[in-house]
Amino acid sequence: MINIYLKPTRERPVVNGHPWIFSGAIERLECFDGNDQVVSVADVFDSKKNWLARGLYNPKSQLRVRLLTWQKEAIDQNFFSRRLAHALTFRAEQLTGSTNAYRLCNGDGDFLPGLIIDRYADYCVCQILTAGMELFKDAIVNALSAIASSKGIFERSEGRVREEEGLAASTGALAGETPPELIQIEEHGNKFFVDLKHGQKTGFFLDQRDNRAFLATLARNKTILNCFSYTGGFSVYAFTGGAKEVVTFDSSHPALELAERNLDLNGFADPPGELIKGDAFAYLKEIEQKFDVIVLDPPALAHRRRDIDAATGGYKFLNLHALRHLNPGGLLLTFSCSPHLSADLFQKVVFGAAVDAGRKVVVVKRLGHPVDHPVSLHHPEGEYLKGLALRALD
Ligand code: SAH
Repeated sequence: MINIYLKPTRERPVVNGHPWIFSGAIERLECFDGNDQVVSVADVFDSKKNWLARGLYNPKSQLRVRLLTWQKEAIDQNFFSRRLAHALTFRAEQLTGSTNAYRLCNGDGDFLPGLIIDRYADYCVCQILTAGMELFKDAIVNALSAIASSKGIFERSEGRVREEEGLAASTGALAGETPPELIQIEEHGNKFFVDLKHGQKTGFFLDQRDNRAFLATLARNKTILNCFSYTGGFSVYAFTGGAKEVVTFDSSHPALELAERNLDLNGFADPPGELIKGDAFAYLKEIEQKFDVIVLDPPALAHRRRDIDAATGGYKFLNLHALRHLNPGGLLLTFSCSPHLSADLFQKVVFGAAVDAGRKVVVVKRLGHPVDHPVSLHHPEGEYLKGLALRALD
Protein backbone atom coordinates (compact mmCIF):
# COMPACT_ATOMS: atom_id res chain seq x y z
CA MET A 1 0.00 0.00 0.00
CA ILE A 2 1.31 3.42 -0.97
CA ASN A 3 0.18 6.91 -0.01
CA ILE A 4 0.42 9.54 -2.69
CA TYR A 5 0.33 13.27 -1.99
CA LEU A 6 -0.60 15.53 -4.88
CA LYS A 7 0.78 18.92 -5.77
CA PRO A 8 -1.76 21.60 -4.74
CA THR A 9 -2.19 22.71 -8.35
CA ARG A 10 -3.02 19.17 -9.51
CA GLU A 11 -5.72 18.19 -7.02
CA ARG A 12 -8.82 19.50 -8.78
CA PRO A 13 -9.19 16.82 -11.52
CA VAL A 14 -8.93 14.05 -8.92
CA VAL A 15 -11.53 15.71 -6.69
CA ASN A 16 -13.72 16.05 -9.79
CA GLY A 17 -13.45 12.35 -10.57
CA HIS A 18 -10.83 12.14 -13.32
CA PRO A 19 -9.27 8.69 -12.98
CA TRP A 20 -5.72 9.38 -14.19
CA ILE A 21 -2.78 10.73 -12.18
CA PHE A 22 0.42 11.37 -14.12
CA SER A 23 3.84 11.34 -12.46
CA GLY A 24 4.11 15.14 -12.70
CA ALA A 25 1.07 15.62 -10.43
CA ILE A 26 2.71 13.81 -7.50
CA GLU A 27 4.40 15.85 -4.75
CA ARG A 28 5.65 12.90 -2.73
CA LEU A 29 5.11 9.25 -1.95
CA GLU A 30 4.94 7.40 1.33
CA CYS A 31 5.35 3.66 1.31
CA PHE A 32 5.13 1.42 4.32
CA ASP A 33 7.70 -1.21 3.46
CA GLY A 34 10.23 1.21 1.97
CA ASN A 35 9.76 -0.03 -1.60
CA ASP A 36 7.98 2.36 -3.92
CA GLN A 37 8.89 0.35 -7.01
CA VAL A 38 6.12 -2.22 -6.73
CA VAL A 39 2.74 -2.14 -8.39
CA SER A 40 0.16 -1.80 -5.64
CA VAL A 41 -3.04 -0.25 -4.36
CA ALA A 42 -2.51 3.43 -3.53
CA ASP A 43 -4.38 5.98 -1.45
CA VAL A 44 -4.33 9.49 -2.85
CA PHE A 45 -4.31 12.61 -0.66
CA ASP A 46 -4.35 16.31 -1.34
CA SER A 47 -1.44 18.46 -0.22
CA LYS A 48 -3.15 19.05 3.14
CA LYS A 49 -3.30 15.29 3.75
CA ASN A 50 -7.04 14.92 3.14
CA TRP A 51 -7.89 11.52 1.68
CA LEU A 52 -9.28 11.83 -1.88
CA ALA A 53 -9.38 8.51 -3.68
CA ARG A 54 -7.98 5.00 -4.04
CA GLY A 55 -6.42 3.46 -7.12
CA LEU A 56 -3.72 1.33 -8.66
CA TYR A 57 -0.12 2.54 -8.72
CA ASN A 58 2.43 1.56 -11.34
CA PRO A 59 5.93 3.05 -10.82
CA LYS A 60 6.92 2.10 -14.40
CA SER A 61 4.20 4.06 -16.14
CA GLN A 62 4.01 7.82 -16.64
CA LEU A 63 0.34 7.33 -15.91
CA ARG A 64 1.28 6.56 -12.32
CA VAL A 65 -2.14 5.95 -10.72
CA ARG A 66 -5.47 4.88 -12.20
CA LEU A 67 -8.25 5.57 -9.75
CA LEU A 68 -10.87 3.00 -8.91
CA THR A 69 -12.92 4.66 -6.20
CA TRP A 70 -13.57 7.91 -4.37
CA GLN A 71 -14.84 6.03 -1.31
CA LYS A 72 -12.86 4.20 1.35
CA GLU A 73 -13.78 0.71 0.15
CA ALA A 74 -11.54 -2.35 0.06
CA ILE A 75 -10.25 -3.37 -3.38
CA ASP A 76 -11.02 -7.07 -3.33
CA GLN A 77 -13.21 -9.64 -5.05
CA ASN A 78 -16.35 -8.08 -3.56
CA PHE A 79 -15.41 -4.73 -5.04
CA PHE A 80 -15.08 -6.27 -8.52
CA SER A 81 -18.32 -8.21 -8.04
CA ARG A 82 -20.19 -5.00 -7.23
CA ARG A 83 -18.73 -3.06 -10.15
CA LEU A 84 -19.27 -5.88 -12.66
CA ALA A 85 -22.81 -6.56 -11.45
CA HIS A 86 -23.58 -2.85 -11.84
CA ALA A 87 -22.19 -2.96 -15.38
CA LEU A 88 -23.99 -6.16 -16.32
CA THR A 89 -27.43 -5.08 -15.02
CA PHE A 90 -27.61 -2.18 -17.44
CA ARG A 91 -26.44 -4.25 -20.42
CA ALA A 92 -29.01 -6.93 -19.60
CA GLU A 93 -31.79 -4.33 -19.38
CA GLN A 94 -30.80 -2.63 -22.60
CA LEU A 95 -29.53 -5.36 -24.86
CA THR A 96 -31.31 -8.62 -24.01
CA GLY A 97 -33.12 -9.76 -27.13
CA SER A 98 -31.16 -7.60 -29.59
CA THR A 99 -27.71 -9.13 -29.26
CA ASN A 100 -25.86 -11.89 -27.44
CA ALA A 101 -22.52 -10.13 -27.95
CA TYR A 102 -21.75 -6.96 -26.04
CA ARG A 103 -19.11 -5.18 -23.98
CA LEU A 104 -19.75 -6.11 -20.38
CA CYS A 105 -17.02 -3.88 -18.97
CA ASN A 106 -15.63 -0.84 -20.77
CA GLY A 107 -12.62 0.11 -18.64
CA ASP A 108 -12.80 3.70 -17.39
CA GLY A 109 -16.38 3.90 -18.68
CA ASP A 110 -17.32 1.36 -16.01
CA PHE A 111 -14.93 2.80 -13.41
CA LEU A 112 -12.61 -0.16 -13.89
CA PRO A 113 -9.58 1.34 -15.68
CA GLY A 114 -7.59 -1.17 -17.69
CA LEU A 115 -10.28 -3.85 -17.71
CA ILE A 116 -12.22 -4.80 -20.82
CA ILE A 117 -14.65 -7.71 -20.81
CA ASP A 118 -16.61 -8.67 -23.90
CA ARG A 119 -19.38 -11.23 -23.90
CA TYR A 120 -19.80 -13.40 -27.00
CA ALA A 121 -22.71 -15.84 -26.69
CA ASP A 122 -21.53 -18.44 -24.14
CA TYR A 123 -18.02 -17.04 -23.68
CA CYS A 124 -16.40 -14.03 -22.07
CA VAL A 125 -13.19 -12.48 -23.36
CA CYS A 126 -11.14 -10.55 -20.86
CA GLN A 127 -8.44 -7.95 -21.57
CA ILE A 128 -6.36 -6.83 -18.63
CA LEU A 129 -4.38 -3.88 -19.89
CA THR A 130 -2.61 -2.49 -16.84
CA ALA A 131 -0.17 -3.81 -14.25
CA GLY A 132 -2.48 -2.70 -11.44
CA MET A 133 -5.43 -4.70 -12.78
CA GLU A 134 -3.13 -7.66 -13.34
CA LEU A 135 -2.75 -7.90 -9.53
CA PHE A 136 -6.46 -8.65 -9.33
CA LYS A 137 -6.78 -11.12 -12.19
CA ASP A 138 -7.96 -13.97 -9.95
CA ALA A 139 -10.45 -11.73 -8.12
CA ILE A 140 -11.81 -10.52 -11.47
CA VAL A 141 -12.15 -14.04 -12.88
CA ASN A 142 -13.90 -15.24 -9.71
CA ALA A 143 -16.23 -12.23 -9.65
CA LEU A 144 -17.03 -12.62 -13.35
CA SER A 145 -17.65 -16.36 -13.03
CA ALA A 146 -20.11 -15.68 -10.21
CA ILE A 147 -22.16 -12.93 -11.87
CA ALA A 148 -22.12 -13.99 -15.53
CA SER A 149 -22.40 -17.71 -16.07
CA SER A 150 -20.41 -18.66 -19.13
CA LYS A 151 -18.86 -21.75 -20.66
CA GLY A 152 -15.47 -20.15 -20.38
CA ILE A 153 -13.45 -16.98 -19.83
CA PHE A 154 -10.68 -16.44 -22.37
CA GLU A 155 -7.88 -13.92 -21.95
CA ARG A 156 -6.68 -11.63 -24.74
CA SER A 157 -4.39 -9.34 -22.75
CA GLU A 158 -2.11 -7.93 -25.44
CA GLY A 159 -1.27 -4.78 -27.33
CA ARG A 160 0.39 -1.43 -27.00
CA VAL A 161 -1.13 -0.28 -23.67
CA ARG A 162 0.15 -3.41 -21.97
CA GLU A 163 3.64 -2.90 -23.39
CA GLU A 164 3.67 0.66 -22.03
CA GLU A 165 2.77 -0.76 -18.63
CA GLY A 166 5.79 -3.08 -18.79
CA LEU A 167 3.67 -6.20 -19.24
CA ALA A 168 4.12 -9.11 -21.64
CA ALA A 169 1.16 -10.39 -23.66
CA SER A 170 -0.94 -13.05 -21.96
CA THR A 171 -3.57 -15.12 -23.76
CA GLY A 172 -5.38 -18.35 -23.01
CA ALA A 173 -8.22 -19.82 -21.01
CA LEU A 174 -8.69 -18.26 -17.56
CA ALA A 175 -11.65 -20.37 -16.53
CA GLY A 176 -13.89 -23.08 -17.98
CA GLU A 177 -13.67 -24.28 -21.55
CA THR A 178 -11.38 -22.86 -24.22
CA PRO A 179 -13.60 -21.44 -26.97
CA PRO A 180 -13.64 -23.25 -30.33
CA GLU A 181 -11.88 -21.71 -33.35
CA LEU A 182 -15.04 -19.84 -34.34
CA ILE A 183 -18.09 -19.10 -32.31
CA GLN A 184 -21.39 -17.75 -33.63
CA ILE A 185 -23.05 -14.62 -32.30
CA GLU A 186 -26.30 -12.91 -33.26
CA GLU A 187 -26.82 -9.16 -33.45
CA HIS A 188 -30.18 -7.67 -34.50
CA GLY A 189 -30.99 -10.99 -36.18
CA ASN A 190 -27.71 -11.01 -38.13
CA LYS A 191 -25.36 -13.89 -37.47
CA PHE A 192 -21.58 -13.64 -37.36
CA PHE A 193 -18.69 -16.03 -36.89
CA VAL A 194 -16.18 -14.57 -34.47
CA ASP A 195 -12.61 -15.70 -33.90
CA LEU A 196 -12.17 -14.94 -30.21
CA LYS A 197 -8.65 -16.28 -30.04
CA HIS A 198 -7.03 -14.50 -32.99
CA GLY A 199 -9.43 -11.89 -34.32
CA GLN A 200 -8.78 -8.15 -34.07
CA LYS A 201 -9.66 -6.51 -30.74
CA THR A 202 -11.40 -9.32 -28.84
CA GLY A 203 -12.77 -10.76 -32.09
CA PHE A 204 -15.44 -8.32 -33.27
CA PHE A 205 -16.08 -4.57 -33.44
CA LEU A 206 -18.94 -4.49 -30.95
CA ASP A 207 -18.66 -0.70 -30.82
CA GLN A 208 -20.11 -0.34 -34.34
CA ARG A 209 -23.33 -2.25 -33.63
CA ASP A 210 -25.69 0.76 -33.66
CA ASN A 211 -24.01 2.20 -36.74
CA ARG A 212 -24.35 -1.09 -38.60
CA ALA A 213 -28.07 -1.04 -37.72
CA PHE A 214 -28.27 2.55 -38.98
CA LEU A 215 -26.72 1.52 -42.29
CA ALA A 216 -29.39 -1.17 -42.72
CA THR A 217 -32.08 1.54 -42.54
CA LEU A 218 -30.67 3.39 -45.53
CA ALA A 219 -29.33 0.56 -47.68
CA ARG A 220 -32.35 -0.34 -49.82
CA ASN A 221 -31.47 -0.54 -53.53
CA LYS A 222 -28.18 1.24 -52.90
CA THR A 223 -24.69 0.49 -54.20
CA ILE A 224 -22.44 0.44 -51.15
CA LEU A 225 -18.72 0.45 -50.47
CA ASN A 226 -17.77 -1.00 -47.09
CA CYS A 227 -14.23 0.25 -46.77
CA PHE A 228 -12.13 -1.22 -43.91
CA SER A 229 -14.72 -3.97 -43.64
CA TYR A 230 -12.98 -6.36 -41.26
CA THR A 231 -15.25 -9.47 -41.18
CA GLY A 232 -18.05 -7.81 -43.12
CA GLY A 233 -20.26 -6.47 -40.32
CA PHE A 234 -21.53 -3.48 -42.27
CA SER A 235 -21.85 -5.59 -45.45
CA VAL A 236 -24.17 -8.13 -43.84
CA TYR A 237 -26.39 -5.35 -42.47
CA ALA A 238 -26.33 -3.63 -45.87
CA PHE A 239 -27.67 -6.75 -47.58
CA THR A 240 -30.29 -7.40 -44.89
CA GLY A 241 -31.33 -3.78 -45.43
CA GLY A 242 -31.85 -4.50 -49.14
CA ALA A 243 -28.65 -3.18 -50.75
CA LYS A 244 -28.33 -3.70 -54.51
CA GLU A 245 -24.59 -4.28 -54.44
CA VAL A 246 -21.88 -4.15 -51.77
CA VAL A 247 -18.12 -3.95 -52.26
CA THR A 248 -16.37 -5.27 -49.14
CA PHE A 249 -12.81 -3.99 -48.89
CA ASP A 250 -10.05 -4.76 -46.36
CA SER A 251 -6.32 -5.41 -46.27
CA SER A 252 -6.64 -8.55 -44.14
CA HIS A 253 -7.04 -11.88 -45.89
CA PRO A 254 -8.39 -13.74 -42.79
CA ALA A 255 -10.88 -10.91 -42.19
CA LEU A 256 -12.19 -11.15 -45.76
CA GLU A 257 -12.40 -14.93 -45.62
CA LEU A 258 -14.57 -14.59 -42.56
CA ALA A 259 -16.57 -11.80 -44.23
CA GLU A 260 -17.42 -14.22 -47.04
CA ARG A 261 -18.50 -16.86 -44.55
CA ASN A 262 -20.56 -14.29 -42.63
CA LEU A 263 -22.39 -13.26 -45.80
CA ASP A 264 -23.06 -16.90 -46.57
CA LEU A 265 -24.24 -17.52 -42.99
CA ASN A 266 -26.91 -14.85 -43.46
CA GLY A 267 -28.14 -16.25 -46.76
CA PHE A 268 -26.03 -14.09 -49.07
CA ALA A 269 -23.83 -16.67 -50.75
CA ASP A 270 -22.29 -15.10 -53.84
CA PRO A 271 -24.01 -11.74 -53.34
CA PRO A 272 -23.82 -8.87 -55.86
CA GLY A 273 -20.56 -7.00 -55.36
CA GLU A 274 -17.04 -8.11 -54.64
CA LEU A 275 -14.78 -8.81 -51.69
CA ILE A 276 -11.48 -7.08 -52.41
CA LYS A 277 -8.18 -7.28 -50.55
CA GLY A 278 -5.89 -4.28 -50.77
CA ASP A 279 -4.80 -0.94 -49.41
CA ALA A 280 -7.83 1.33 -49.03
CA PHE A 281 -5.76 4.49 -49.48
CA ALA A 282 -4.59 3.37 -52.92
CA TYR A 283 -7.97 1.87 -53.84
CA LEU A 284 -9.95 5.03 -53.05
CA LYS A 285 -7.53 7.12 -55.07
CA GLU A 286 -7.54 4.84 -58.09
CA ILE A 287 -11.07 3.54 -58.58
CA GLU A 288 -13.47 5.10 -61.04
CA GLN A 289 -16.67 3.58 -59.67
CA LYS A 290 -19.13 5.72 -57.70
CA PHE A 291 -21.37 4.57 -54.85
CA ASP A 292 -24.62 5.63 -53.19
CA VAL A 293 -23.23 4.91 -49.74
CA ILE A 294 -19.65 4.61 -48.48
CA VAL A 295 -18.68 3.37 -45.04
CA LEU A 296 -15.19 4.50 -44.01
CA ASP A 297 -14.08 2.85 -40.79
CA PRO A 298 -10.26 2.87 -40.72
CA PRO A 299 -8.20 1.56 -37.81
CA ALA A 300 -6.96 4.21 -35.37
CA LEU A 301 -4.51 6.36 -37.31
CA ALA A 302 -3.34 8.10 -34.09
CA HIS A 303 -2.60 6.01 -31.03
CA ARG A 304 -0.59 8.70 -29.28
CA ARG A 305 -1.13 12.41 -28.95
CA ARG A 306 2.01 13.14 -30.96
CA ASP A 307 0.66 11.14 -33.92
CA ILE A 308 -2.34 13.43 -34.37
CA ASP A 309 -0.87 15.69 -37.07
CA ALA A 310 0.12 12.77 -39.25
CA ALA A 311 -3.23 11.10 -38.59
CA THR A 312 -5.29 14.12 -39.62
CA GLY A 313 -3.52 13.96 -43.00
CA GLY A 314 -4.58 10.32 -43.34
CA TYR A 315 -8.19 11.03 -42.39
CA LYS A 316 -8.35 13.96 -44.77
CA PHE A 317 -7.00 11.86 -47.63
CA LEU A 318 -9.50 9.04 -47.03
CA ASN A 319 -12.50 11.36 -46.68
CA LEU A 320 -11.53 13.47 -49.65
CA HIS A 321 -11.30 10.46 -51.93
CA ALA A 322 -14.42 8.83 -50.48
CA LEU A 323 -16.41 12.04 -51.09
CA ARG A 324 -15.21 12.07 -54.70
CA HIS A 325 -16.74 8.62 -55.16
CA LEU A 326 -20.19 9.45 -53.84
CA ASN A 327 -23.10 9.74 -56.22
CA PRO A 328 -25.22 12.92 -55.95
CA GLY A 329 -27.34 12.61 -52.80
CA GLY A 330 -24.99 9.88 -51.60
CA LEU A 331 -24.16 9.15 -47.97
CA LEU A 332 -20.79 8.84 -46.31
CA LEU A 333 -20.60 7.18 -42.89
CA THR A 334 -17.15 8.20 -41.74
CA PHE A 335 -15.43 7.24 -38.50
CA SER A 336 -12.35 7.83 -36.43
CA CYS A 337 -11.49 5.58 -33.52
CA SER A 338 -8.29 7.47 -32.67
CA PRO A 339 -8.46 8.16 -28.93
CA HIS A 340 -6.71 11.53 -29.02
CA LEU A 341 -8.54 12.99 -32.00
CA SER A 342 -11.53 14.98 -30.72
CA ALA A 343 -14.94 14.96 -32.38
CA ASP A 344 -14.44 18.64 -33.09
CA LEU A 345 -11.09 18.17 -34.82
CA PHE A 346 -12.42 15.16 -36.75
CA GLN A 347 -15.31 17.26 -38.07
CA LYS A 348 -12.89 20.01 -39.11
CA VAL A 349 -10.74 17.48 -40.98
CA VAL A 350 -13.78 16.12 -42.80
CA PHE A 351 -14.86 19.68 -43.59
CA GLY A 352 -11.43 20.31 -45.16
CA ALA A 353 -11.86 17.12 -47.19
CA ALA A 354 -15.30 18.24 -48.44
CA VAL A 355 -13.95 21.63 -49.48
CA ASP A 356 -11.05 20.04 -51.38
CA ALA A 357 -13.37 17.47 -52.96
CA GLY A 358 -15.63 20.30 -54.14
CA ARG A 359 -18.69 18.71 -52.49
CA LYS A 360 -21.39 20.37 -50.41
CA VAL A 361 -22.39 18.07 -47.58
CA VAL A 362 -24.66 18.12 -44.54
CA VAL A 363 -24.38 16.16 -41.31
CA VAL A 364 -27.50 13.99 -41.08
CA LYS A 365 -26.47 12.20 -37.89
CA ARG A 366 -23.62 12.05 -35.42
CA LEU A 367 -22.49 8.53 -34.70
CA GLY A 368 -20.70 6.99 -31.75
CA HIS A 369 -20.56 4.15 -29.28
CA PRO A 370 -23.56 2.01 -28.34
CA VAL A 371 -24.83 1.84 -24.73
CA ASP A 372 -22.49 -0.98 -23.78
CA HIS A 373 -19.51 1.34 -24.38
CA PRO A 374 -20.28 4.02 -21.77
CA VAL A 375 -17.91 6.97 -21.38
CA SER A 376 -17.26 8.45 -17.95
CA LEU A 377 -18.37 12.07 -17.79
CA HIS A 378 -15.26 12.60 -15.67
CA HIS A 379 -13.02 11.09 -18.36
CA PRO A 380 -14.15 12.38 -21.75
CA GLU A 381 -10.96 10.98 -23.31
CA GLY A 382 -12.75 7.62 -23.19
CA GLU A 383 -14.90 8.68 -26.14
CA TYR A 384 -12.70 7.19 -28.83
CA LEU A 385 -15.27 6.41 -31.56
CA LYS A 386 -16.44 9.46 -33.48
CA GLY A 387 -18.59 9.25 -36.57
CA LEU A 388 -20.50 11.45 -38.98
CA ALA A 389 -23.23 10.47 -41.40
CA LEU A 390 -22.91 12.96 -44.25
CA ARG A 391 -25.10 13.52 -47.28
CA ALA A 392 -23.73 15.11 -50.41
CA LEU A 393 -25.86 17.61 -52.30
CA ASP A 394 -24.75 17.01 -55.86
N1 SAH B 1 -15.91 -1.80 -39.85
C1 SAH B 1 -15.40 -2.98 -39.23
C2 SAH B 1 -14.19 -2.72 -38.36
C3 SAH B 1 -13.02 -2.10 -39.08
S1 SAH B 1 -11.52 -2.22 -38.20
C4 SAH B 1 -16.52 -3.67 -38.47
O1 SAH B 1 -17.59 -3.07 -38.26
O2 SAH B 1 -16.34 -4.81 -38.06
C5 SAH B 1 -10.37 -1.66 -39.35
C6 SAH B 1 -10.05 -2.62 -40.47
O3 SAH B 1 -9.15 -1.96 -41.36
C7 SAH B 1 -9.37 -3.90 -40.08
O4 SAH B 1 -10.12 -4.99 -40.53
C8 SAH B 1 -8.01 -3.88 -40.81
O5 SAH B 1 -7.66 -5.15 -41.33
C9 SAH B 1 -8.29 -2.93 -41.93
N2 SAH B 1 -7.15 -2.17 -42.49
C10 SAH B 1 -6.08 -1.66 -41.84
N3 SAH B 1 -5.32 -0.96 -42.70
C11 SAH B 1 -5.90 -1.03 -43.92
C12 SAH B 1 -5.60 -0.50 -45.21
N4 SAH B 1 -4.54 0.27 -45.41
N5 SAH B 1 -6.44 -0.77 -46.22
C13 SAH B 1 -7.54 -1.54 -46.03
N6 SAH B 1 -7.87 -2.06 -44.84
C14 SAH B 1 -7.08 -1.81 -43.79
